[in-house]
Amino acid sequence: MGRYTGPRCRLCRREGTKLFLKGDRCYSDKCAMNRRSYPPGQHGRYRRRLTGYAIRLREKQKLKRIYGVREEQFRRYVEEAQKVKGRTGTALLKILEERLDNVVYRAGFAVSRAQARQLVAHGHFLVNGRVTDIPSYRVEPGDVIEVKSQSKDKLRELIKDAAEKRNVPSWLTRDLENLRIQVNSEPAEEDLDKSIDTNLIVEFYSR
Ligand code: SF4
Repeated sequence: MGRYTGPRCRLCRREGTKLFLKGDRCYSDKCAMNRRSYPPGQHGRYRRRLTGYAIRLREKQKLKRIYGVREEQFRRYVEEAQKVKGRTGTALLKILEERLDNVVYRAGFAVSRAQARQLVAHGHFLVNGRVTDIPSYRVEPGDVIEVKSQSKDKLRELIKDAAEKRNVPSWLTRDLENLRIQVNSEPAEEDLDKSIDTNLIVEFYSR
């Protein structure tokens, strides 16, 4: 199945929580979760009791949608996380955080992960001096990500606006003058999304 390209607010309404998929709009009164916080569809307003399976499925879908990852790739991430020593859920969140599109977003170089993904896919970024247009590229400590010189004038204003609204986690350092991001370390546990119950996701894939 391909990547979801339908209305993104619908995904938040389905999961019953803000997934912050649209940048500024997510923080405004126009957010669909402020206006219609019930699931989409004809029967969306009816309250249903979720089964154990549905609770785990919804948590998995929520995380997948936050990071904009397709099912096959998400499953591969879970399998990789299961091989890591320690908590599988923590390993999974770290893997997702280390995606290049997420790093561009976390550093405040884009208003949403979708925008970050597009900027990366359009070849605007170099990683350690080489053009890298693969949003799923995994960064490592010591990597330097920068806007390529031909794109700097084009993106400077966009990045300046996006960066104003975002604090940068300590595992990254951003240089707005040179439009550069330094990866200082792996993401620490406190940098990971606490709103997700990763145990439910691990259980979902352990069926
Ligand atoms: Fe979700 Fe943002 Fe749409 Fe609100 S505006 S429903 S947070 S994508």
